[in-house]
Amino acid sequence: MPALAIVDTPVVDVFPDTFIPASPISATAVDGSCHWSTSLSTELYRIDDWGAPYFTANSSGNISVRPHGSNTLSHQDIDLMKVVKEVTDPKSSGGLGLQLPLIIRFPDVLKNRLKCLQSAFDLAIVNKSYDSHYQGVYPVKCNQDRSIVEDIVEFGLKSRFGLEAGSKPEILLAMSCLCRGNREAFLVCNGFKDAEYISLALLGKKLELNTVIVLEQEEELDLVIKLSKKMNVRPVIGLRAKLRTKHSGHFGSTSGEKGKFGLTAIQIVRVVRKLDQFGMLDCLELLHFHIGSQIPSTTLLSDGVTEAAQLYCELFRLGASEMKIIDIGGGLGIDYDGSKSGESDLSVSYSLEEYAAAVVESVMLVCDQKSVKHPVICSESGRAIISHHSVLIFEAVSANQQHETPSDIEFLLDDYSEEARGDYEKLYAAAKHGDHESCLLYVDQLKQRCVQEFKQGSLSIDQLAGVDGLCGWVVKAIGGSDPVLTYNVNLSVFTSIPDFWGIDQLFPIVPIHRLDQRPVARGILYDLTCDSDGKIDKFIGGESSLPLHELDNEGRYYLGMFLGGAYEEALGGLHNLFGGPSVVRVLQTDGPLGFEVDRAVMGQSSADVLRAMQHEPELMIQTLRDRAEEAGGGDEENGALVASCLDHSFNNMPYLNKEMSE
Ligand SMILES: *Cc1c(COP(=O)(O)O)cnc(C)c1O
Repeated sequence: MPALAIVDTPVVDVFPDTFIPASPISATAVDGSCHWSTSLSTELYRIDDWGAPYFTANSSGNISVRPHGSNTLSHQDIDLMKVVKEVTDPKSSGGLGLQLPLIIRFPDVLKNRLKCLQSAFDLAIVNKSYDSHYQGVYPVKCNQDRSIVEDIVEFGLKSRFGLEAGSKPEILLAMSCLCRGNREAFLVCNGFKDAEYISLALLGKKLELNTVIVLEQEEELDLVIKLSKKMNVRPVIGLRAKLRTKHSGHFGSTSGEKGKFGLTAIQIVRVVRKLDQFGMLDCLELLHFHIGSQIPSTTLLSDGVTEAAQLYCELFRLGASEMKIIDIGGGLGIDYDGSKSGESDLSVSYSLEEYAAAVVESVMLVCDQKSVKHPVICSESGRAIISHHSVLIFEAVSANQQHETPSDIEFLLDDYSEEARGDYEKLYAAAKHGDHESCLLYVDQLKQRCVQEFKQGSLSIDQLAGVDGLCGWVVKAIGGSDPVLTYNVNLSVFTSIPDFWGIDQLFPIVPIHRLDQRPVARGILYDLTCDSDGKIDKFIGGESSLPLHELDNEGRYYLGMFLGGAYEEALGGLHNLFGGPSVVRVLQTDGPLGFEVDRAVMGQSSADVLRAMQHEPELMIQTLRDRAEEAGGGDEENGALVASCLDHSFNNMPYLNKEMSE
């Protein structure tokens, strides 16, 4: 007999054995066997597919980071759990005591990605005897975080790596960062521009930065002509072409002839004529295009690059003899689901090397055909550079079953109305016959009747709970309940994974520990916000739930979201006033821990998010303290308690704070 209190009541006692619920563990198990190993978890969560070479499951059952990728010689892995412990535990050596959620940045991973991108192009250029070089830029819109942009400029010093900006604050940050960079590094100015933006770009030229003003709209040309005269600067101009090549995925909706960005063939012809007329055709040096993010295949890539290379050669033929750069935009994709299929926006079917080879080959073919000198190849890869370098850590704090089978709630048949008892008899008979379909029907009928009686005031809440418990037990016993649990996570989807909410973008989510234990349930994740959209119920691999472990009362359960370094941070909002997560920057070292926390910032406090909505926390605290004084009749102890309570709450992050309840 199962350990349920209702079992002790005479009525349930006579329920047939078919109603004995299977143990909750085996009923929801992902795998029937008891044996489990880390390598089974690796397979289950496809860690090697999406995570290689940076993320693996280690022998302690935790996720490890290999900050230098496949170049593991003499480099120690970093255990993510150790990082989490180090930065969240106030008693750890660093004593940081940061609250979750937490973003952990690994600049070593960023450096490795940049190096791999550069090597892929260098290799393709050598292999094909291409007669120029690759010189990339990082589009700062992907993540404008200061440490990321500064790192990229520093890591890219030798390879002349530059930045791309798309708005006025972005060009301001790009200019100031590049002042410490290589003088030849490009500063590509994209986006819709007004006189102020163009003046800033021209100012960049005065500061001897390698600024290129890319015309996004025809009207921008008049401003460039006028302002460059006024400021007495010879500008370097680029054109953004609207290609006919169309990328059909989500990120391609702005590509093709009806796209949002760039100049049409008609406009390009007019721009060239006007530049010529003003004696400025020699200022035109760059052709830019952007097929869209997550380009699925090298076939589409080659198609777009070929079209653009033809345009490049045509500009030459029209007299733009100083043309020297082809800027292929972003779009180098990430394999989020590890399928390497390129069949959805979640995956791409090529490697970095194949991407670079396709670009170099397509440009070269066209230029050789038209006898045009090979241009410098620039790319604006964002996603591909920074996705891997940051990991979002959050906690599951509780889990619920759809049907509860309580052991502390009684069902006593004699307490119920005659009608309810009638429903029960039918349920009982159906159960005895093993007729599960009828069971579900009578469960429903019994429940509905009891709710009706409750509304009328003739049923107590204990009786209502008793019936819910009985029904939960029955449904579970006949396997009629949804085995998927809901795990409540200490996170806001709107703040930290906005692309999941907005455009159904999926990221790999995996427990970062206990991978040597068998997950016993499948779950969907409910976030903290009071919003029904605040949940994660789609996962990579086409799954609608995630294998998860049982929450035990002592320990904590940490999940990691991977590959989310691009776009999510700046897109995130303040829904329900849940602000940004804590952020740490972790460097690989040879010390005993294998890492060192180089920078740590607590996430936005309640005061911070309130300020963002024009509230004034200082005033609010004063108002509340004044009221406390009034209400407490000037009791000093009471006043001090109120003050410390308020202080705490305004200064802490808005997320659940487990430390305080312990
Ligand atoms: C967004 C954007 C990029 C970056 O695209 P990724 O797919 O992240 O590489 C590059 N260029 C332009 C013009 C963009 O708008």
